[in-house]
Amino acid sequence: MATTTPDLARPEFLAAPIPGREGLISVDNPATGEKLGEVPALDASQVEQIVTQAKVAQRGWGSLSAKDRAARMHSFFDAIIAHQDDLSRLMVAEQGKPLAEAKGEVAYAASFVSWFADEGLRAYGEVIPAPQADKRILVLKRPIGLAAAVTPWNFPLAMITRKVAPALAAGCGIVVKPSELTPFSAMALQQLAIEAGIPEHLFAVVTGHAKSVGPVLTGHPDIAKFSFTGSTAVGKLLTAQCASTMKRVSMELGGNAPLIVFDDADIDMAVEGTIMAKFRNSGQTCVCANRILVQDGIHDKFVEALTARAAALRVGNGLDGVTEQGPLITEQATTKVAEHVADAIRRGAKATTGGTAHEAGGRFWTPTVLTGATSEMRLAYEETFGPVAPVFRFRDEREALAMANDTRSGLAAYAFSADIDRFWRVCESLEVGMIGFNTGAFSSEVIPFGGVKESGLGREGSKHGLDEYLELRMICLGMK
Ligand code: ADP
Repeated sequence: MATTTPDLARPEFLAAPIPGREGLISVDNPATGEKLGEVPALDASQVEQIVTQAKVAQRGWGSLSAKDRAARMHSFFDAIIAHQDDLSRLMVAEQGKPLAEAKGEVAYAASFVSWFADEGLRAYGEVIPAPQADKRILVLKRPIGLAAAVTPWNFPLAMITRKVAPALAAGCGIVVKPSELTPFSAMALQQLAIEAGIPEHLFAVVTGHAKSVGPVLTGHPDIAKFSFTGSTAVGKLLTAQCASTMKRVSMELGGNAPLIVFDDADIDMAVEGTIMAKFRNSGQTCVCANRILVQDGIHDKFVEALTARAAALRVGNGLDGVTEQGPLITEQATTKVAEHVADAIRRGAKATTGGTAHEAGGRFWTPTVLTGATSEMRLAYEETFGPVAPVFRFRDEREALAMANDTRSGLAAYAFSADIDRFWRVCESLEVGMIGFNTGAFSSEVIPFGGVKESGLGREGSKHGLDEYLELRMICLGMK
């Protein structure tokens, strides 16, 4: 590991940015509201220049052996892990999550790099038996070329490596626009990549306003692949923009995950799973349980236990070691949570804990459990993206499945039950890309992560994640 890497959490890393042609963008700390630093706001022509450099770098990288690429990627992995503490503190400062979660995210982000380094070694082609005796048919897997990505603020590192690692392993280059709210983690990652021996310009981070950077990344003819993680509305817009140059797209969009607790569930598992699936990152993940569906027979016991656990969650600045719930990312995010809770209470829901802004003020919200939730409430059909657990009641499995599938989203679902027949029925009936059964946490680098319906296109992670950056080239050989 190079010794030149600065302490990524020290202020000089954040200081004195060179303005872009559109000036600077200010970044704040969501826990305190204080300004953390500034990043350049690049204009379209500056982004185009970076795309051109990345395209040149990609040609060289794509012609290396997979083994050479894997070796450099393993050095990149080592560099991320060596800086786990710095990266975690930087992430807490710009994103707000508890330090323990940030450390977990750095390890998770790094895991994509080592996983795909090795997966790249196994990008096997095919030999297909030809239908004629004088022909031979081969299929090569080739890097798709240059990729671009737009990423969100809720996982400032992992949402980037989940795209960068398969791109690099496949022999592609990639230009990433991180969220304006959390650009520093991305910039630190890029710096570590260069120091670890990933060629300069191959993985480029571009900072700037979405309206200036976005159209270059979705419209540039040298970009063959576009990958996005964010809201469904923006994902639809960017998919439409990509159509003009027919890019391959991956879309990891919003969810409205149901979490179903059946009468025969292990109550401790169900409560812990709900805490994990609902309150991680203060409820700001796309796979967060948005609707908790609980069967009549277990309802009251479950609500009592969930309420006690949620009420005990420690709210505060993520840098305080004991914090389990940090602030929400912006004031608008806190306002949306307040509106969802007020709308639910107006329509008859009751808060068994929380239901109000937290006494710490600012963007902090008290972990909340609501009972009596119904399908007319906003929180039933919109992602709340905050620490609010609305409990809906149901009578039987049929009703639960109908409620669970009553949404245009199809990212994740969770269910808790001890019945093996029900396990199969439920898993085959839920209209989603991912299911946590008797668990509230399933994410890792080895799973195919992605959704159906309006939650997106394509998969990230696992061997399927690599295919998103490879194209098939068929060769038919004629013989004498
Ligand atoms: P969220 O609600 O989680 O912030 P968004 O979809 O608004 O989700 O943002 C996710 C990412 O998409 C961010 O990097 C943001 O800057 C970017 N983004 C938002 N609108 C556009 C747009 N019109 N063009 C390109 N990128 C966009």
